[in-house]
Amino acid sequence: MGLDIRINLPKPGETETYDVVIVGAGPAGLTAGIYCARGRRSTLVLERNMAGGQIALTELVENYPGFPEGISGFDLADRMKRQAAQFGAELREITTVASLQPEPDGCFSITTDQERVRARAVILSPGVEAKRSGIPGEAEFVGRGVSWCATCDGALYKGRTVAVVGGGDSAVEEGMFLTKFADKVYLVHRRDELRAEKIAQERAFANPKMEFVWDSVPRRIAGSQMVEALDVQNVKTQEVRTLPVNGVFFYIGQVPNTAFLQGVVERDEAGYIRTDDLMRTSLCGVFACGDARSNPLKQIAMAVGDGSLAAVQAQRYLDELDCSLPGAGEHRPAWGGPVAVKAEAAGPSPAAPAGPATP
Ligand code: NAP
Repeated sequence: MGLDIRINLPKPGETETYDVVIVGAGPAGLTAGIYCARGRRSTLVLERNMAGGQIALTELVENYPGFPEGISGFDLADRMKRQAAQFGAELREITTVASLQPEPDGCFSITTDQERVRARAVILSPGVEAKRSGIPGEAEFVGRGVSWCATCDGALYKGRTVAVVGGGDSAVEEGMFLTKFADKVYLVHRRDELRAEKIAQERAFANPKMEFVWDSVPRRIAGSQMVEALDVQNVKTQEVRTLPVNGVFFYIGQVPNTAFLQGVVERDEAGYIRTDDLMRTSLCGVFACGDARSNPLKQIAMAVGDGSLAAVQAQRYLDELDCSLPGAGEHRPAWGGPVAVKAEAAGPSPAAPAGPATP
């Protein structure tokens, strides 16, 4: 079977209806795409950037099974993308989804910045993006020394000094990556203990280019044309110290890309999409997977597991509910949560398919 990648090619004036539309092409969305396409469902994957999500910006993935030597995040994402395409999933990149709405006939309308498509079932895998610190200078120096992507910008800091803010896996891994270029990397963490995986910590502590600034939070980024300094404050002593740096990389956590889902599906306090164990959201026919789902583990392996289960459940839903049938239009919670959105049409409610999650 030939590749069927359609990148950014909406059809003007036409509203296509797919069996499944997947929002987001990170590991979760691409895995769901592989499973749906192999199930011979017409499948469209929409991605606001380039396919791959966060991992496409990761230099080396070492903890995804099957790659004992590790694999570059870009290569892993590219393999997933080609695998989904090879089974017939369509992918449209640089396409931002603006809204998702249930329609009276039981389908869903998805509006992007370029077109409107319809879906009989939807899988949400919009992923997350870097949290902003909000300190003075952060917004001002974007592109002039402030970054959230060491893989993208690291090479600009050859022979320079940079600060990385955060103590999780991203901060430690990306800080280590930056030591390939920078002469010195300050890692500024608000506690005296890192959150990152132990093996990553061991490597970072052994790297002579890394200097740890414990119990400290960033207060201000200063410079003229480019970043020249980062003020950090010790949270125990209140002492303020100025680090002479050319760049500041923030890895202080993530926020889910779910603003477009407000009032559509139930989300938790932090905006992550709530699902049941079968990846069903509060809106029947809509499933969620990956980092934007309210789950306890943000890992590629988890996203892949999420994505496969969401795809299997979406297909079970399609098997039991043909949205083109009259009377199949009432949307209701799939798992007993509050009704987030009610469709206008009346009619008998389709039962949400359940059952064990075997492919
Ligand atoms: P994270 O695990 O949420 O860590 C964020 C770090 O920033 C924490 O150390 C936190 O401090 C600190 N922080 C939070 N708010 C702050 C603020 N306002 N000012 C200063 N520091 C602040 O985020 P992440 O490292 O981006 O990772 C996100 C998820 O992806 C995690 O589940 C992680 O395990 C996963 N991930 C995995 C890998 C891998 O498996 N190789 C790689 C990257 C990411 P505290 O520790 O005090 O809370």
